[in-house]
Amino acid sequence: MTVIQSGAAIVELAGEFSRREIAPRVAQYDRDEKIPRDLLDKMAELGFFGGVVPVEWGGLGLDYRTFVAFVEEVSQTCHIMGTLVSMPSGLVGAGIANFGTIEQKERWLRPLAEGRIFGGSAVTEPRSGSDVAGMDTTYKKDGESYILNGTKAWISNLDIADFFLSFATKDRSLRHAGVTAFLIPRDTPGLELNPYRDKLGFRPICTGEVVFKDLRLGPDALLGEEGHGFEVAMTAVERGRLGVAARSVGVAQACLDQAVSYAKERIAFGHPISEFQIVQSKVTDMEVGVHTARLLVNDAADALERGERARRLTSMAKMYASDIAFRSATDALQIHGAYGVSPEYAIGRLFRDAKVLQIVEGSNDLHRALIGEMALGIRADS
Ligand SMILES: Cc1cc2nc3c(=O)[nH]c(=O)nc-3n(C[C@H](O)[C@H](O)[C@H](O)COP(=O)(O)OP(=O)(O)OC[C@H]3O[C@@H](n4cnc5c(N)ncnc54)[C@H](O)[C@@H]3O)c2cc1C
Repeated sequence: MTVIQSGAAIVELAGEFSRREIAPRVAQYDRDEKIPRDLLDKMAELGFFGGVVPVEWGGLGLDYRTFVAFVEEVSQTCHIMGTLVSMPSGLVGAGIANFGTIEQKERWLRPLAEGRIFGGSAVTEPRSGSDVAGMDTTYKKDGESYILNGTKAWISNLDIADFFLSFATKDRSLRHAGVTAFLIPRDTPGLELNPYRDKLGFRPICTGEVVFKDLRLGPDALLGEEGHGFEVAMTAVERGRLGVAARSVGVAQACLDQAVSYAKERIAFGHPISEFQIVQSKVTDMEVGVHTARLLVNDAADALERGERARRLTSMAKMYASDIAFRSATDALQIHGAYGVSPEYAIGRLFRDAKVLQIVEGSNDLHRALIGEMALGIRADS
């Protein structure tokens, strides 16, 4: 593995690698709905999956501020790759880093951070997305074993995941207190994977159903204590949301860059369209939006770096940055006129993906509700 000297060096390397290796291929693999494995191998070679995972566990041990800059840099070219590089530090790895035993960290976290394996985080269900504690997947004990039954929906990385971090309840009426977290190897009998095809956005990520049919797990599969799975899920999503926010800033910046470059080239009524004030106004909104979203993401990153719970800040960063990404994509597409809907230009892909960013890891309506409730003291923010 290449040894990276400093935080700034890895951000620079991420930008240089993304423009050279990822940019020429992203349109094609978006059409193919398939992440090229050789690109992932090259990224692993450079240590790109190490993120904030401590060096002793195979990671880069980045501080959160550098981590978000790194994720943004990759996401300016392809936020799907941005998703994959953030997962070992967020949705998949953070729960293991915080609640895993030494054996679990050795088995799952180290190879994850080194990019030798990939994982999925299976929380959402067909009937419960935003309402995580309302899950239908159940487990019951049979001696030392746990038997899981249920279906998770919209789960990413079905094609490449070597294991899934997932959640089940022993009694739905217990709500949060009934939930337990499990680490489930892909080859466990009783695990069925059913990918969806032809999604609007996030196309290269293989997303679909994860079904548990009398799936039997030993005690080594338990992550954290029984009945404390909700804490594991919230640790994972809090860090996951920071990753979505950083990716959203990357997408918004890409929209701004493309809008600026197109507006300078396109001539209408004998002038570059950049001379029209209504076009300038859209660029102004994008410029201000990207800048303020980045500040909010940095603020949330700093709170996590200080070891604080950052529930409110990560919600604010996720909601605001993905709203900015979608608004920037809408305006940038408008600036492209008819060419905006052509596959020749990247803006159509950014537009489709930006919409999905407003839905994943907590729909923005849910975040809007949570932030309001915290501000009003109806809900605690720690
Ligand atoms: C491409 C893609 C990849 C994904 N990957 C994963 C993954 O890897 N793992 C995983 O677990 N999940 C994943 N998801 C699922 C995603 O996290 C959920 O879609 C999301 O949490 C919203 O849940 P839902 O779709 O069930 O919406 P619902 O909970 O049904 O909500 C629908 C709408 O109802 C409204 N709403 C619901 N609750 C509230 C509330 N309290 N206040 C205000 N409005 C509300 C909102 O408008 C919301 O958008 C993925 C989704 C997509 C599209």
